[in-house]
Amino acid sequence: MKINIAIDGPSAAGKSTIAKELAKKLNYVHLDTGAMYRCTSLKALRSGIALDDENAVCEMLKDTDIRLTPDGEVFLDGENVSKAIRTDENSLAASAVSSLARVRSDLVKRQQEMAKEKGFIMDGRDIGTVVLKDAEVKVFMTASVEARAQRRYDQNLAQGILTSDLETIKKEISERDYNDTHREFSPLRKADDAVEIDTSYMTIPEVCDAVLKLAEPFLQKEE
Ligand code: C5P
Repeated sequence: MKINIAIDGPSAAGKSTIAKELAKKLNYVHLDTGAMYRCTSLKALRSGIALDDENAVCEMLKDTDIRLTPDGEVFLDGENVSKAIRTDENSLAASAVSSLARVRSDLVKRQQEMAKEKGFIMDGRDIGTVVLKDAEVKVFMTASVEARAQRRYDQNLAQGILTSDLETIKKEISERDYNDTHREFSPLRKADDAVEIDTSYMTIPEVCDAVLKLAEPFLQKEE
């Protein structure tokens, strides 16, 4: 039997990078739930739907297909939007639509449906508290705002989608931190049974090892 691993934490803490690495190592499926909120906001922006119009965004979602492939590509209604969803404008827009209760319940249902079987590493903001409450391993990944802004800057540069300077990225991350921790529905918080890992001064292999250590007792029981 496989297990589920939930990774939550603030923006740009390295959740997706670590989840991807672990999925490769364990031969598990990585599910980046942030990409689903990003698809929702991208489609709303493109359709001219106000990001706080809950009814309109929910109506739009009824007719929206979001597909995440095992190798990390993101398809919105059949279009590959893997890059388009990562712009700074859409990052803030995703944070805005994620505060709508009915948008959350629609996407949470899809996530739970996708991960009905075990063998998932899911990253987001509410995985350990809402989506996969029964995950065997729960991690709350944090890092200083400075470390996170630098990482996001380097990542955007490497992917050729650098649209802001370091200071602007820092401000945008702080703004999303505020939105994510202060929203009424499923605010970002550490699950009581999650283990906090501060990755500010850790390398990617070090963080992977730390999570693997938490998973080890369960993995040994796997057939
Ligand atoms: O993880 P990522 O930064 O790509 O997520 C984009 C936005 O989607 C976040 O700022 C957050 O507001 C929202 N989100 C969420 N719940 C999740 C995943 C992401 O509210 N499980």
